Amino acid sequence: MFRKEKIGGWGNYPVEECFVYRPEKLSDLKELVEWQDDTYKISRGNGRSYGDTALNGGHSLLLLSKFNRFLSFDAERGILECEGGTMLEEIIEFFLPKGYFLPVTPGTKYVTLGGAIANDVHGKNHHKAGCLSEHILDLKLLTASGEILTCSREQNADLFWATVGGIGLTGIILSARMKLIQVSSTTIDVNYLKATNLEEAFELFRHHDHLYDYSVAWIDCLATGDSLGRSVLMLGNHSPSSETTSNFLPIKRKRKWKVPIDMPSSLLNPLTIKGFNHFYYHSFKDGSHKTIDYDSYFYPLDSILNWNRLYGKKGFIQYQVVFPEETSFAGLTEMLKKLSQSKRPSFLAVLKSFGMENKGLLSFPFKGHTLALDFPVKDQTIFPFLKEMDELVLRYNGRIYLAKDSVLHPDTFKAMYPKLEQFKKIKKEVDPKGIFSSSMSRRLGITGDCQ
Ligand SMILES: Cc1cc2nc3c(=O)[nH]c(=O)nc-3n(C[C@H](O)[C@H](O)[C@H](O)COP(=O)(O)OP(=O)(O)OC[C@H]3O[C@@H](n4cnc5c(N)ncnc54)[C@H](O)[C@@H]3O)c2cc1C
Repeated sequence: MFRKEKIGGWGNYPVEECFVYRPEKLSDLKELVEWQDDTYKISRGNGRSYGDTALNGGHSLLLLSKFNRFLSFDAERGILECEGGTMLEEIIEFFLPKGYFLPVTPGTKYVTLGGAIANDVHGKNHHKAGCLSEHILDLKLLTASGEILTCSREQNADLFWATVGGIGLTGIILSARMKLIQVSSTTIDVNYLKATNLEEAFELFRHHDHLYDYSVAWIDCLATGDSLGRSVLMLGNHSPSSETTSNFLPIKRKRKWKVPIDMPSSLLNPLTIKGFNHFYYHSFKDGSHKTIDYDSYFYPLDSILNWNRLYGKKGFIQYQVVFPEETSFAGLTEMLKKLSQSKRPSFLAVLKSFGMENKGLLSFPFKGHTLALDFPVKDQTIFPFLKEMDELVLRYNGRIYLAKDSVLHPDTFKAMYPKLEQFKKIKKEVDPKGIFSSSMSRRLGITGDCQ
């Protein structure tokens, strides 16, 4: 019924031995939840979180890939109801040809709806559309008692706001109703703007965010001096209408590349990254326009399957921070200086402006600027470095994203998430025995060590 497996998140750090179950039916899932087998349980969607949020070392992981059916669709209002294990890719492939798209999407389509809700994911449109929870009308939650509760802004509202972004700790999201957006093409009109430094990048976000549904910037984290924070902004809107004359929008399937083996972690070193950054920055013409397919705009990394293997056997840590508007310029400047001085450049570095905070008790975004970075785990020295980064983040009242984390200290986490006590209270009410617990929740002290 289960297999013992060494398993990691997308960053392959940490890797832990878990008891892995793949229930097929609701009755099996309920039985597993109600079964008093001395192990904690946590849901796992498609394992695209980077750290230990969907891990349960020495305990049980419930894989929800079999719960992936579409349940209903109201075409007039664009309301889709589907099971928690449904992949965003499946939703796009079925609904985009009919003129509907996800209201919010992360940078990969290989995530499940349940996993996306449990991290309350954000996309390139956060400044306008907020997090995914903004577009979830209601969800059905299988709780520790075996009861199935409908949660929405009106019904079990406290539990709704604890579940969105609640990293699986309130129960299992069996299904959700989500409002899709209507589009008339499968392409995005993109405007590329170059910023010679961080100050200019902030200016460009400020002046253009209201004009574009989507905005994101690639940032050169090795640039120094007057060029510190030089970036390329990629601002996009859905193209107004498709070239097709039929009622269906054409989706082109693209060839996927594969990284066949774990690459030596030395591949991504300061020299190769500096070379790449120079080439990449200069490959864009300031003010140029392009119309590109949705896949290339939203999911550039999905074109290389297993790209996580580029970081080597020991894995990597993705570090995503948000700084509030008042401190974000100073905080990011200090962080970029620290990065360029360190021998730890990040191969991928993404900058984005965020819109308003929502009521999710553990949701990550608030108004300000976010930066995402990747660091390979070559040796133990990465950990004190990240601790220093955390201290820097705290000094500027920033916060780290749990979907990416695997190293945060409980006290630092507590200081970053002021609604934690409220979350714990609701968790205790809905799961008094603390059945739902993960490696992350124990590491961060959200749940205790023993039942
Ligand atoms: C290339 C890449 C780009 C990304 N870009 C972004 C981005 O732009 N914005 C962003 O916000 N995130 C981004 N992410 C992170 C990713 O969107 C989230 O980690 C997402 O939650 C992963 O979904 P999953 O289905 O793989 O869930 P998992 O990683 O398997 O699980 C994530 C969490 O959800 C819980 N969970 C899973 N299914 C359920 C369920 N049915 N019920 C209750 N809890 C459940 C798990 O317990 C765990 O706590 C990116 C990740 C990658 C790899």
